[in-house]
Amino acid sequence: MRLVLAAAAVVGAAVLGARAIVDPLNPHVLLAPTAATRFPIVILADGFTPDEESDFDSAAATIAAQVQAASFYSANIGLFSFTSAFNAAATSGVSTVGFHDPTGATECAIDWDPSTSATIDAVLTGVAHFRVIVIGNRDYHFGCAYDQWIYLAQEAQFYPDVIPHELGHAIGGLKDEYFPDPPASFAYSGPALVNENCWSGAPPPWWQAAFMTATNAPGCMGYTAGVVHAYDDCRMKRLTSDFCLVCLSLMNKAIAPPPPPAAPTNIRIIKASMQPPPPPPVATVRLLVRVNAATSDVAVTSVSEESRLPASTRARVGDIAYEITDGGQTIDTAVVPGDPFEVRSYAGSPAAPHTAARRDSANVVVYLQQATLAALRSRDVAITFYRLSPTARPRQDVTPDALGAMKTATPPQATSFATLTADALRRAVETAIATRRPI
Ligand SMILES: [Zn+2]
Ligand SMILES: [Zn+2]
Repeated sequence: MRLVLAAAAVVGAAVLGARAIVDPLNPHVLLAPTAATRFPIVILADGFTPDEESDFDSAAATIAAQVQAASFYSANIGLFSFTSAFNAAATSGVSTVGFHDPTGATECAIDWDPSTSATIDAVLTGVAHFRVIVIGNRDYHFGCAYDQWIYLAQEAQFYPDVIPHELGHAIGGLKDEYFPDPPASFAYSGPALVNENCWSGAPPPWWQAAFMTATNAPGCMGYTAGVVHAYDDCRMKRLTSDFCLVCLSLMNKAIAPPPPPAAPTNIRIIKASMQPPPPPPVATVRLLVRVNAATSDVAVTSVSEESRLPASTRARVGDIAYEITDGGQTIDTAVVPGDPFEVRSYAGSPAAPHTAARRDSANVVVYLQQATLAALRSRDVAITFYRLSPTARPRQDVTPDALGAMKTATPPQATSFATLTADALRRAVETAIATRRPI
């Protein structure tokens, strides 16, 4: 039986260039959204046959409960929702969205097809999702994260601290604070880390004034020297801990709702009245956009229309930002959490650190606030992606004004590297409207 997610209130969705949609998806609400929900999380079955549905249901409920029980999330639980989606496989252990045995192309214990992220969004047509936790019907305990998904082998359900840590990456863009024990020695030499929970600049770190108890011991992000972390005890370093005060402050910034965008994509019409009007429903268009940082190629992977508050942030939780323009006028800006071009993986043990491998391209989630597919047909809306200088305006919110100042600074502190043109977006919107399925 197919359950209708009334609370999800998704009015339409479509996907470009993806595979056939498997039906029925049979979604179950594990934690219902509230009026404040901005981070809808879907837990997707992968490789479970109909006979194994109860195994998946149990794992999905366990993982959703782990987040609800964890500090920070429990205090902000109204911002989250969890839905499990059973996508039946014909053969036990064989993925329906393109995950497969490793070939050495990634550092993960699994590989995936180039179309996997698009296929996941196609499967989830009509089910609102900010991030997708894929539970793979594979033995052992390992995981990998990229694009909009976090893949977990099913035994990850027995390690309750994994998912609260993973969502620290996905929502707050937090870095891992792990580093290897001596005698291993790795000196950090990458771009300056001055906005996040690892600090590579001259002392004192940015957090010192606010958190005087920080110990600033050497080591962070897999390096043993040249970079420090604030506290020994942190969920990003030792899974069984809570977020340290520095990570907690960054997470709190990342979940603060961004202001609504400027007109003219504001599609609300509020009539003059003696009475204050009731709050109008919030319409958001969610895009999955594939961006290639090396070639500047941009393509829309998925388009959906949602009736909820967007999960976007202007907090400086990463060095990739996007600017939305309408007719050349900037109407909104947002930051992509963390480093979207990094593939994260862990293997084997809850204490094992993540490894990270870089890719040229990534699918990033972009929200067009207060927009509908119909309204976008006649607009000149374009999206430009920027790489921000790590040392520019550290920790300041990336508002339209701030981004404008960074673009015109000498030397520029924000450099565009890819643009989704208004024509390309309109074509994607037309395709989405033409292929929209009734929910
Ligand atoms: Zn991690
Ligand atoms: Zn921390």
